[in-house]
Amino acid sequence: MANLLELRNVSKTYTQGIINPKSTVALQDISLTLKEDKPTIMTVAGESGSGKTTLAMLLLGFITPTTGQIIYRGKDITQLTGEDKLAFRREVQAVFQDPFAVFNPFYTVDHLLTVPIKKFKLAKTKAQARDKMDEALTAVGLRSEDVLGRFPHQLSGGQRQRINVARALLLKPRLLVADEPVSMVDASLRASILETLRNLQRDHGVSIIYITHDLTTAYHIAKSIIVLYRGGVMEAGNVDEVIKSPQHPYTRLLVDSIPWPNLNQRWGTDTIKARETGGSATGCPFRSRCPVAMDKCAVQPPLFQMHKTQAAACYLHEANPKIAAERLSELLPV
Ligand code: ADP
Ligand code: MG
Repeated sequence: MANLLELRNVSKTYTQGIINPKSTVALQDISLTLKEDKPTIMTVAGESGSGKTTLAMLLLGFITPTTGQIIYRGKDITQLTGEDKLAFRREVQAVFQDPFAVFNPFYTVDHLLTVPIKKFKLAKTKAQARDKMDEALTAVGLRSEDVLGRFPHQLSGGQRQRINVARALLLKPRLLVADEPVSMVDASLRASILETLRNLQRDHGVSIIYITHDLTTAYHIAKSIIVLYRGGVMEAGNVDEVIKSPQHPYTRLLVDSIPWPNLNQRWGTDTIKARETGGSATGCPFRSRCPVAMDKCAVQPPLFQMHKTQAAACYLHEANPKIAAERLSELLPV
């Protein structure tokens, strides 16, 4: 079975400053696989500063890994040229947090949707272009007559975010990278936008990487989850198992801070500090905050697999078999 996307031991370190350069490890040794013929919704969860947007930017090819490779349909995305590059740009789409960010305030919604149609030559005639727009808008639960011809400020936040999704959908993507797509949308509209994303996966065969700092939305939308802390995978597996029965002390802390059944609660609005290189970059990144930290946590724990579909990078589980970081995807349900 061919892979749609593969991350092989991807790390990203940002270096800032020339005279006194400071390095930040934003992402460390992440491996993931999405299968071509099994569209799924995978959540990447973590507090602010845990490396989620860095992962999104890497997946989209906006930044390059410091080490490791990102392979899209068999080819390293940093090496893509010509047709392959164009196909990647079309097939991997993004929806970002700020529904305003991609809108130019002086252009109407029509313009926003027409640009990709022209750029990727998706229609031969005006009528065909209009049909494509109608189709994409319908798929996200909007009616053309309600939104076409309008300026961004004449739309609600929920409508704007739906238009962003429609814009991505026009291109018939295979993968949608959604970086906190509902965190700036009114709570009352969140559920319906998430439902729209789920329909894309179910009815249009789009795989979705759903990035969030909100475990409750992850629980509702995703099949699998990867929990990041300071750029490292703390726990991963089936979303039900991980949220109902978290095994890593960090995931437990996150789950305990959700006052169920208040589904709109968020956690971790303070940015956690990323790892700076040097002594502190080794060992479990969570150990300074961990209530059960042990001496051996000074050495990075591997992932231990406690169930078929759940693993945690924590010595509390060292009685279980280890699973190599590269094989993480094998335990994620699709
Ligand atoms: P998240 O999306 O989970 O909040 P980010 O990926 O934005 O996390 O950031 C991860 C870490 O990398 C943070 O410590 C952040 O300050 C740092 N970082 C992100 N982008 C840059 C950049 N362009 N230059 C330097 N450091 C960055
Ligand atoms: Mg972010």
